[in-house]
Amino acid sequence: MPYSIPDDEEILDALRSVMRRMKGISSLSKLRSLVVKELKIQDPDHTVSHERLRRSAVRAPFLKTRITARRNDSLKSLKGKCPVCSGKLKTTKNETIFGGRVTLGYRCTECPYWTTLKRRVPTRYHFEYVKEK
Ligand SMILES: [Zn+2]
Repeated sequence: MPYSIPDDEEILDALRSVMRRMKGISSLSKLRSLVVKELKIQDPDHTVSHERLRRSAVRAPFLKTRITARRNDSLKSLKGKCPVCSGKLKTTKNETIFGGRVTLGYRCTECPYWTTLKRRVPTRYHFEYVKEK
């Protein structure tokens, strides 16, 4: 059986029509199963991985994403990459009373993910459909 991979545009189109219908979804797995169903209308061999869908969803201009996370005390390095979408992480800093600056954590430049130095591990995604500008 040929394995066919949808392009980014097809994933966004499927995502858009699912979210227009659903308005809000609080689970990546649920979102994925609906998007896969939608993709299969175009091509029965189409599918999308959790990771790829997550990356598209958090960056989609018509979605507002809220990430629920738990603390992980192990200070494992994030290596400058976002655990949600692989985007670039920016350091967030705060001025100290001594005039210096101290690193508070990291913020993704592509999606809503942020973390303090005690790393936040994403556990749940809430997607909300918003009107496109
Ligand atoms: Zn990100």
